[in-house]
Amino acid sequence: MRSVTINPSRMCQPIGAMHATLGIHAAVPLIHGSQGCSAYPMRMFNRHFREPAQIAVTALGEGASVFGGRDNLIASIKNVIARRNPELIGVITTCLSETIGDDVEGIVRETIDEIEEVEEEDVIPIVTIHTPSYVGSHITGYDNALKAFVTHLSKEFDESDEKLNIIPGMINPGDIREIKGMLDLLGVSYTILSDISDTFDAPIILPKPSFPNGGTSVEEIENCAGACGVISLCEHAGGSAAKFLKGKYGMRSDAICPIGVSKTDRFIEAISDITEKEIPYELEKERGKLIDAMVDVHQLTYGKKAAIFADPDIALGIAEFASELGMEVVVLASSTSSNAFMDAAKEISDGEILNGNDLYDLHRAVKEKDADILFGHTMCKKSIPAGEDNIAFVRCGFPVYDRIGYYRYGIMGYHGGIYLSDLIANAILDRYGQYG
Ligand code: SF4
Repeated sequence: MRSVTINPSRMCQPIGAMHATLGIHAAVPLIHGSQGCSAYPMRMFNRHFREPAQIAVTALGEGASVFGGRDNLIASIKNVIARRNPELIGVITTCLSETIGDDVEGIVRETIDEIEEVEEEDVIPIVTIHTPSYVGSHITGYDNALKAFVTHLSKEFDESDEKLNIIPGMINPGDIREIKGMLDLLGVSYTILSDISDTFDAPIILPKPSFPNGGTSVEEIENCAGACGVISLCEHAGGSAAKFLKGKYGMRSDAICPIGVSKTDRFIEAISDITEKEIPYELEKERGKLIDAMVDVHQLTYGKKAAIFADPDIALGIAEFASELGMEVVVLASSTSSNAFMDAAKEISDGEILNGNDLYDLHRAVKEKDADILFGHTMCKKSIPAGEDNIAFVRCGFPVYDRIGYYRYGIMGYHGGIYLSDLIANAILDRYGQYG
């Protein structure tokens, strides 16, 4: 057993919380930590989405590290309100502020009281999100953020409406658009908690608005308690918020990551079941097109040995789809350690399961299992064996920065499945030629 990590496979908690916050309209993530805790995630977002990510930081230095970050946090909240005029601030803690032990909720309450006394009006919602990065990963951070938003903002309703809450997790704008397309075909009205499809993939508008026009509004989050149900697409990143909504408001809840045929079938059936909507012919047609695309590439994919690395729910979804394409999953790896992932992975693969291991272990497993194709984000390129043993590589997950436009396309749903199946087949063709 190694006591050192070589090429970490996970990112830190605050990056997940920032991702969730930036899907809320006119929201500013305020990092309560050192400057590096905001600079590195901003760079990741810029490289993956090719979009600016506006993130504020309390810039704790040596003095604050010893005496506490109270003054920095109060000044930063006032600064962000005065300069950006946001509709919500997410105060995101870091390793440093958690270790100092700042009473962040108390400081935020004190700041709100102070501003309200001077301004004589209510201050925008300021939500505290605890993300100590010495435990968990970016996935845990996203999960904590979503739970904080629904806990803090959702309001009791007398009657439930027909809306369905969808908690997407750390997925791409293209995936969210695929999900919205399916919900539109089903005739279901919905709230996406939270929606980055138009904030991280925003059009150029002149004059430039202070915030992108998209994102879930604070009002929609307040009203999410009245929905008829909630579905989390990535249970590890959003499952806690779904659990809260189910427990507090009694709404129906499910968790399905719709990648591949059977998982998308289950997703649509769950929506139909919760909302009592008929499944339209258009969705059957899309399903048929996916099956056709799979038949077209089957001679390339059948029998190929796949190594899959991604966030836990995405990894399980891709693994199931790889099996549907006739591939053998010889390595199944999650960025984040989880018992639920381990149990589900054993059901899908007889190969090696890596539960939160580093990319050094992934590299070893890929070689030992003699994989033909690897799925993973850009940094997984380090896990591809060099020279003659070089294998096919399909980019997926976050971050992907060595190709342009990946975030625009979804791998979820039937239509996303066609895109993923094409990606897989083309990667095999590039590496092995026409007959694999
Ligand atoms: S791991 Fe901790 S110190 Fe490092 S960037 Fe993340 S929050 Fe900041």
